[in-house]
Amino acid sequence: MRLLNKNILFHVPAAYVWRDLKWFEVSFRCIKCGICCVGTEMELLAEDIERITSAGYRLEDFAVEKDGVYRLRNVDGHCYFYDPASRSCKIYDIRPIGCRIYPLIFDGEKVDVDRTCPTWHTVPRREVERLAPYVVKFLNDAKIAKIKIKLRL
Ligand code: SF4
Repeated sequence: MRLLNKNILFHVPAAYVWRDLKWFEVSFRCIKCGICCVGTEMELLAEDIERITSAGYRLEDFAVEKDGVYRLRNVDGHCYFYDPASRSCKIYDIRPIGCRIYPLIFDGEKVDVDRTCPTWHTVPRREVERLAPYVVKFLNDAKIAKIKIKLRL
């Protein structure tokens, strides 16, 4: 992680940082197995919640609040938006930033690739370096999503 990038990022308003959804997608060989949609604890940003509620979904249906952080709700053991029949995400085009940035995770010390993902080894090192500062910022911004949502919705 480049400390310089990280410091610069914290001076950019979140609304601008999270606008380009595609930019936060990790370029690697995702086989769409759906493992990451099972028992999800994915944090949600205020920007995610605004985007998804604008598409007609209700916050109380697709999210749960845990320790002050909104997370995707599980239904029948998988993400509210995961369709087991088609093994696909019902809101793929507007899916949360955290789902795009996965399988990158923060292990408490550093940003790394989650070995739970069967194709974790196909994530290029340059992708970890490109997105590492945003993984940290994502987790920090998720902590203030509840406050931002209360002010906006
Ligand atoms: S676990 Fe990995 S390969 Fe499977 S759907 Fe999620 S990101 Fe893709």
